[in-house]
Amino acid sequence: MDPLSEHERRGAAFRDLDAWLALTPDPDRAAPGRLELVRQFINSADLESDTEELGDLAALRSWLRRRGLIGPRERLEEGDLERALAVREALRRLLADRSAGAAIDTGALGSLNSRPAAAHLRVSFDATGAPALEPAAGGLDRAFAVLLAAIERAAAEGSWERLKVCSDHECLWAFYDHSKNRSRSWCNMAVCGNRAKARGYRRRQRASSSPSRP
Ligand SMILES: [Zn+2]
Repeated sequence: MDPLSEHERRGAAFRDLDAWLALTPDPDRAAPGRLELVRQFINSADLESDTEELGDLAALRSWLRRRGLIGPRERLEEGDLERALAVREALRRLLADRSAGAAIDTGALGSLNSRPAAAHLRVSFDATGAPALEPAAGGLDRAFAVLLAAIERAAAEGSWERLKVCSDHECLWAFYDHSKNRSRSWCNMAVCGNRAKARGYRRRQRASSSPSRP
């Protein structure tokens, strides 16, 4: 494939990608730019309702394709589903540990850092001279490269630290913290926030009603 058509092909896929983001409902809740793709990727499993959007390789492919994360003719390979799920859960774990102020789980770091996705990024310059990190591979590595480049960019712009997962351990839904003081802990105050409050209340009740030890 000659470089020009390769470039055009990637340009077409990126148009799909940004078109998807423009369609994303509820921009007030979405993370800025392509970081929203990372949020959606983490939320492709809803732990609370036990719903999995990436149930098999075909489901993963159509999920990535809908968002322009892989090209129309790109294929996935055996083992890609396991890789995708491992990276997704490592991202969820990283955000959970970070929100809790804990050291990031070494297994999660291993999953993220051992993936060759980072090696499939290259810097390219557009017509105005602005540099951008772009995927240099196809298939799942291309999708990983877009997601990782979005994270790197978000970190530089200060939005990565606002991407969080719900503090409720059964929920762990990814959300973007739009609050002024960046203090939001739950995906939904009415559900997870109140549940945490109720648990805290019951704990305090038990503590005050249990007889004190001599
Ligand atoms: Zn929640």
